[in-house]
Amino acid sequence: MSTGVEQDIWERKYHLALERMERDERDFRDLEEGLRRLAVRLAALARGQGSDIDSLLDRLNEALRDSPQPALLDTLLESLSEAVAGLDRLPSAVNDDAPAAPAVSAPAAAPAALAVAATEAVAPSPLQQDSEVVASLRTDIARLQDLLAAVSARLGDMTRYLAAELAYGEAAAGGRELDATVREEMRALGESTLTATDLGALQAEVNARLSLIDTHFRKYRDREDARMAAYRDRAERMRDRVEELETQTSSLQDSLRREHALALTDLLTGLPNRLAYERHIEAAQARMRETGASLCLAALDIDHFKTINDSLGHAAGDAVLRIVGQTLTRELPDAAFVARYGGEEFVVVFSGSERDAALQAAKGLCALVASLAFHASGKPVTVTMSGGVACFGRNDTAAEVFERADRALYSAKNAGRNRCQAG
Ligand code: GH3
Ligand code: MG
Ligand code: MG
Repeated sequence: MSTGVEQDIWERKYHLALERMERDERDFRDLEEGLRRLAVRLAALARGQGSDIDSLLDRLNEALRDSPQPALLDTLLESLSEAVAGLDRLPSAVNDDAPAAPAVSAPAAAPAALAVAATEAVAPSPLQQDSEVVASLRTDIARLQDLLAAVSARLGDMTRYLAAELAYGEAAAGGRELDATVREEMRALGESTLTATDLGALQAEVNARLSLIDTHFRKYRDREDARMAAYRDRAERMRDRVEELETQTSSLQDSLRREHALALTDLLTGLPNRLAYERHIEAAQARMRETGASLCLAALDIDHFKTINDSLGHAAGDAVLRIVGQTLTRELPDAAFVARYGGEEFVVVFSGSERDAALQAAKGLCALVASLAFHASGKPVTVTMSGGVACFGRNDTAAEVFERADRALYSAKNAGRNRCQAG
């Protein structure tokens, strides 16, 4: 959101409204001037042609001198137009009934406001005989009526326009208080244009009200600027805080991921640990129940590992564990999983393998380990493993299957080690 842009829009609209108002005032002054000229011409030419016209001229003069209200002027012009049209229709009758030239009223008889202008009026001539003059008067009247109607319409337009702009401003800027104030000023302004009795006073009032509106705009803008500055400041602080939190969160997530990975990894061999095995077997079992595929596991244990530790040292024992672990991982058949179950014992999960295939795979892994060329102090050291294989029945738990595999392992040990058996 941008208060600057909204403010610009407001200012543009405000200045536009001001320009329209000034233009209307100018039009109104032109209209007034036109009316004065018309009144002078009518006074010079038409006064004395009928009591209607005389009385209308008097009222027009009065209206022009006292309070140029559009509505009243409009009515008078209309009546004058009709009266002049009547003259146009009468020429012969008037000629017959009153052949003498009409007594054109002297300028002195006209109201003071018209006295000066009347001296510049066209030379009097018998109106009844001069239909051109009548036509010209009618044209003048019609033109002034049009102008008057245009001014009234424009004033109405402007009031509606400003009301619409204010409604827009309320929605855009939320300046309800400003809106209410401006609406009130505009309402008073509209009222003044209708009831003003003096153009000068009206202009002064319009200016005063517009400068009041201007002041309200300025105050509103200052308040909005301050509010926006505070808002920006708050937003900035919030953004910093969010960034900080994001960083913290992401480093927390990283360390959680690391912790999680560590919790499932055996540090010595880098293989999945027993916890990871338990998760894996749970998921594999669920898949097995879902698909009905076979699932087997092998418990593999290094033979006489204690002797390796004892004869070559614990570090050598660790190295053997690492190498055996890497070999098992590398040589693992597809869809199989290996973990260090504990000590020198490993567990392999064969997903989708039948008992025989699992047993063959376990035997292959043991044979690979046995073929590894270990050396200690330059002498070859043979490392062998024994294994027990067991497969899941429909209702077996992982612990039950592992126990069967472990029993088979024990049996393989008893049978001489370096071999695998199925349980
Ligand atoms: P068997 O053939 O019957 O399995 O005999 P074994 O010696 O392998 O089995 P036993 O259970 O007697 O000994 C296992 C040894 O493994 C005992 C223990 O100290 C050793 N061991 C367990 N974990 C580690 C380890 O992380 N590093 C080393 N270096 N030795 C370990
Ligand atoms: Mg062992
Ligand atoms: Mg063991």
